[in-house]
Amino acid sequence: MTGILAIGQYNDTDLAALRAMGAVQVADLDALRAMGQGARAGLRAVAYKGHDGFGAAEMALLPDLGLIANYGVGVDAIDLDAARAAGVRVSNTPDVLNDDVADLAVALLLMQQRRLIAGDALVRGGDWAAGAAPGLFRKVSGRRAGILGLGRIGREIADRLAAFKMEIHYQSRSAKETPGWTRHEDAVSLAAAVDYLFVALVGGAETENAVSAEAIDALGPDGVLINISRGSVVDEAALLDALETGRLGGAGLDVFHGEPDVNPRFAALEQVVLQPHQGSATRETRAAMGQLQRDNIAAHLAGQALPSPVG
Ligand code: NAP
Repeated sequence: MTGILAIGQYNDTDLAALRAMGAVQVADLDALRAMGQGARAGLRAVAYKGHDGFGAAEMALLPDLGLIANYGVGVDAIDLDAARAAGVRVSNTPDVLNDDVADLAVALLLMQQRRLIAGDALVRGGDWAAGAAPGLFRKVSGRRAGILGLGRIGREIADRLAAFKMEIHYQSRSAKETPGWTRHEDAVSLAAAVDYLFVALVGGAETENAVSAEAIDALGPDGVLINISRGSVVDEAALLDALETGRLGGAGLDVFHGEPDVNPRFAALEQVVLQPHQGSATRETRAAMGQLQRDNIAAHLAGQALPSPVG
């Protein structure tokens, strides 16, 4: 018994690798709750892959738990205060996914501004051959972009947009070393200064609705909001209202409140591009994330420093 519990749906490769380490796997936190006391004893590390809240009650079910190794960089589903109080360490999978998420953010913008989904349908459905002409869209290069949260992923987005000859603005709690990018004190002043607002904050209570109705209005009828961070960071009711009334130009969204159940009002909006939370979903990156998760578990069990601890 190596004491590893894998919680969540893993692909065959990751599951085989976890099993090779001696892990037992359950589908979700409900399955953890259903485990008998005997099966829960001796479990020293959890490989966690999920978005359901992992809090004090779940940690209390695992008396020997020392590590929650999260699959993903965002740990907003894990109650970090409860983990600290229970003496449980937490690790995540930062950096290995930066490129993919930043790539997707830029793709969402290009898809939205050049109406690529409508263009694809025009060709695929035969309307173009039948004489329908595509419309005229908006130029992306050279516009003004704002990054809300210039962390690891935000920085990669900004670097890509700089190559699109954009003027870069950002908002972060502290000033960052940049090639002359403009820092703003808050989300509203950032939104007012740009054409495109990219949201790259962490999720969780402290950033909830950081993109407020006021920030959305500041972005305005010509502005586009791109969110690849967490649905909770955007006031979604205000976003839908602004899109439906034309007070916001458009949006590209990979994350939503209550996902995967997405508010059906989004589906009626042609100026919105929707993706199923797939920012890191490439074979290469998912393999690297799984490896980093397992590296953290192996280090914990060997009594070594964690490769990517949280906090
Ligand atoms: P990061 O390097 O930690 O950057 C996070 C940013 O959030 C930083 O700019 C930081 O601001 C800001 N922040 C953190 N705590 C804050 C607080 N309490 N109040 C205000 N701002 C705060 O994280 P990352 O690796 O770039 O990842 C960012 C997020 O992207 C993840 O947490 C995750 O939710 C999301 N994500 C999504 C996908 C996807 O598939 N769509 C994939 C990976 C990650 P400062 O600069 O002021 O410190």
